[in-house]
Amino acid sequence: MVPLSYSTSPRPSDADLRRLSAQTASELQTVCRDHGWALHITAGEPASGSAYVQFPPIRVDVAQQIIAGLRRLLTNRCAECLAIKKRRAQAIRDKDMTTAAAAAAAMGRHQRAVH
Ligand SMILES: [Zn+2]
Repeated sequence: MVPLSYSTSPRPSDADLRRLSAQTASELQTVCRDHGWALHITAGEPASGSAYVQFPPIRVDVAQQIIAGLRRLLTNRCAECLAIKKRRAQAIRDKDMTTAAAAAAAMGRHQRAVH
């Protein structure tokens, strides 16, 4: 986990860091719950001027859901994926099954290479 920290001086007080930790833990827990991941994320103790949040031990199947969800996010933003999907959709509209199959194969290669 990357620690959250202020870049401004003077150094924030431990009370500020605890507030930041509590707020961030709450936001992270909410966004995880919205994704269907029931995680009880808690504020950690400040250390060396940084604020922390703590994850509970995560069941492997939940961790796998998180991995799959993040991969989907990456895939949805990938310009190459979008280009290949467009090419395949156009080929299907044109009833050009050779190009459609080539696009599907290209997607498979791209997914394995990049995602
Ligand atoms: Zn991609």
